[in-house]
Amino acid sequence: MPDILRLAARVWLLALMLATPSISRAALPLLIRPARVWTGDGVAHANWVVLVRDGLVEAVGPASAVIAPADAETVSLPGATLVPGLIDLHSHLFLHPYNEAAWNDQVMKEPEAYRTLHAARFARDTLRAGYTTLRDLGTEGAGYADASLKRAIDEGAIEGPHLSIATRAIVATSSYGPGPRGFRPDVALPEGAQEASGVDAVVRAVREQAARGADWIKVYADYRVGPDGSARPTFTAAELRALVEAAHLGGRPVAAHAASDAGMRLAIEAGVDTIEHGYGGSASTFRLMRERGVAYLPTLTAVEATETYFNHYVPGMSPPTPKMREAQTAFRTALAQGVTIGCGSDVGVFRHGDNWREPLWMARLGMAPVDVLRACTSGAAAILRQQGHIGRIAPGLHADLAAFDGAPDLRIDDLRRPVFVMKDGVIARRPDDLPEAAATPAAR
Ligand SMILES: [Zn+2]
Repeated sequence: MPDILRLAARVWLLALMLATPSISRAALPLLIRPARVWTGDGVAHANWVVLVRDGLVEAVGPASAVIAPADAETVSLPGATLVPGLIDLHSHLFLHPYNEAAWNDQVMKEPEAYRTLHAARFARDTLRAGYTTLRDLGTEGAGYADASLKRAIDEGAIEGPHLSIATRAIVATSSYGPGPRGFRPDVALPEGAQEASGVDAVVRAVREQAARGADWIKVYADYRVGPDGSARPTFTAAELRALVEAAHLGGRPVAAHAASDAGMRLAIEAGVDTIEHGYGGSASTFRLMRERGVAYLPTLTAVEATETYFNHYVPGMSPPTPKMREAQTAFRTALAQGVTIGCGSDVGVFRHGDNWREPLWMARLGMAPVDVLRACTSGAAAILRQQGHIGRIAPGLHADLAAFDGAPDLRIDDLRRPVFVMKDGVIARRPDDLPEAAATPAAR
């Protein structure tokens, strides 16, 4: 056999091996008939249908205009609105709520294998809630286990959303947890993230994480390192610039944890792509974000959750605490300054599958429901640089879809009621009244 043919045969075999999980799960074409379809922009359409084949959306439009093939199955979703699969841009699948176990205890007492098994369960809960993509921003002491989780999901071994991962995250030496603050100096502690000091070391950390599978580089631009425990910048401007340069050279965007205005400014000026939290952000800093095209992930629910666990806040009963008011002011300021805002909840601090709490907060603080939904779909996909693949219902894009009872584009609370979820054309959730085997042949 000529070399070129042998090579072609090898490439074909390799492609077949890589494709096997999805091939074995390939289903018949599927016609989805919800009450309404919202494609990721504009208004929702009544009496539209979506045709799915081979994991992709093949057609979307009025029922009269979309011709289903003879062998298509139909899923009817009366009373539901079908939207693009939701995206949460700030998750931690390797954490669980801090009122179950404090963060320190999770990192110090829960072995990586235990945390990974739970992460697999949380990934499934998340998918079934209608979230088909997560940007998981750091394993918080569970090493590179997110790369294995992502691989197992992609290979079809377990159910879960598409993952963009950050692996260990990068922190300045001795400025994260657990400890060394609060611990005697002669105990060896695990690291909640990868520690680095100096330009060479941060560049090395970026390269190591990239090689282990990081899609994004997560950096902590500030942390509670002030003498009084306040959030203060950790890395120097030179360290941050080097980190961003190394990440961008390798084709990876940078997400910066920054809670203080000073930390945000250092990160933005170093060229990061997203700011996480930003609770202390001033109007001028948010304006700078808009000018530089830096996106904002407000993580409002993380504050609500921690204030509930540790500061006597009772949801629906107490007035917002000072910390909640600070976060809410930041969100409103960012909104007024026209910053690109994505859905990013910090889920893990609160229960996986309850990601809907973040879009509810965004709507409660003044964002129109349809804009919130865009921030959780097409807008989030653009922040992820995945807009050509996910975030809208359009021919050729992934068949990542979620249907909710009601009309979440008009009443965001309806995101609490998922009835149907599909990822890459594979159904992850069906309406309760439609058991696994009850799909009917398409009516013609
Ligand atoms: Zn986080």
